[in-house]
Amino acid sequence: MKILVIGSGGREHALVWKLSRSPDATQLWCAPGNAGIGAERLAKNGQLVECVNIGAEDLPALAAFARERRVDLTVVGPDNPLALGIVDLFKQQGLRIWGPNRQAAQFESSKAFSQRFMEQYGIPTAKSGTFKDVGPAVEFARSLGGRCAVKADGLALGKGVLLCETFTEAERAIEEVLVKKAFGSAGATVVIQELLEGTEISLHALCDGKTAKLFPTSQDHKRALDGDRGLNTGGMGTYSPTPFLTESALAETGRRILEPWLRGCAAEGIDFRGILYPGIMLTKTGPKVLEFNARFGDPETQVYLTRLESDLIELFMASCEGTLDRIELKWNPMPSVCVVMASGGYPGSYPKGKVIRGLEDAARLENTKVFHAGTARSGGQAVTQGGRVLGVTAWGKDLRAARDAAYAAVGRIQFEGAQFRRDIGSKALG
Ligand code: AMP
Repeated sequence: MKILVIGSGGREHALVWKLSRSPDATQLWCAPGNAGIGAERLAKNGQLVECVNIGAEDLPALAAFARERRVDLTVVGPDNPLALGIVDLFKQQGLRIWGPNRQAAQFESSKAFSQRFMEQYGIPTAKSGTFKDVGPAVEFARSLGGRCAVKADGLALGKGVLLCETFTEAERAIEEVLVKKAFGSAGATVVIQELLEGTEISLHALCDGKTAKLFPTSQDHKRALDGDRGLNTGGMGTYSPTPFLTESALAETGRRILEPWLRGCAAEGIDFRGILYPGIMLTKTGPKVLEFNARFGDPETQVYLTRLESDLIELFMASCEGTLDRIELKWNPMPSVCVVMASGGYPGSYPKGKVIRGLEDAARLENTKVFHAGTARSGGQAVTQGGRVLGVTAWGKDLRAARDAAYAAVGRIQFEGAQFRRDIGSKALG
């Protein structure tokens, strides 16, 4: 089977790596890919994965490539092409593609849509209001005592959420989004949620329009610095599973979210084929959904796919074809930990082109996989090219062993200015 993966981050490297191990993969391209992706080889025939210089948002060029090369399956990593309707375009052209269509991708591309949906179908979430005008938004924030999350409705590169502790902060946040247009047109509408307290986890479910198969739990580390200090980032590390939900509590949480969600999708004619990724706060009064994403998390994918034993092509085909009810997802019980190594300065501005050393050394370690994110090849060497550079991932007999292995691999890798958190997994390990 000939496969095209769209995207260039650590998530896409993990997708490519896992797909490349399938006995059904005969040729694999990634648009635009990165240095690590271009070094992967297919298990079946030893062929190299080929990076194609087409941007993830250049939908017509991607479709033309898929037609010309007779791609059998296209896999979409990031949220933007989904929100732009890449799935609708490919399907119109008779091309098989895995991911939610534009209507279904609204669970991520519009927080107002998701919030209305959750309230209508009884999915546990934060108390909230949706506003276009400052006056009523400010009144609602006042009714919450100022403690609230002010969220731009649309996609804002993961930055459109302002957490407020006081009424003054809330007023300022509403002004930033609605009046100063800090997030452009993504902030023409704001969703304001009460501030929830508790432990945050990520859930993922693979869906085929009728069935949703829940993954194990994972936990992201969004802030740049140890102890959850510093600025919000795309994610500085993750691990799976977490100890915060027992198997039965996870199943119950899944039921309380996914059953009404599937009912709502059926009622509204939403055909969701892809990954639904709810961000969850485990509060004193039970798990609540903070937001939905409509694709794999990054770096959640890196820990999930190093634990997944099932064939990923088989899962994606079942998700495309509506036959997930016949499939069981198999997981390796060994925990997995991913530590993100980022460029100095990230999530602010950072230099590029720094030579990355020690990758071969780290690659020799057992139970370890170094996924590339913002990397490129220059003069035969791997160099930094983005904020998040590598997702150093390892697994082991328990979480401690997995974490120690991941940090041992981090210790072998150097580039100028490299920064990473030293406490990935510590909430679970104490
Ligand atoms: P979101 O993109 O909606 O997940 O928000 C980004 C981050 O803001 C989340 O990962 C949470 O850490 C935090 N957050 C969002 N909504 C809330 C809320 N209602 N209460 C507390 N924290 C929140």
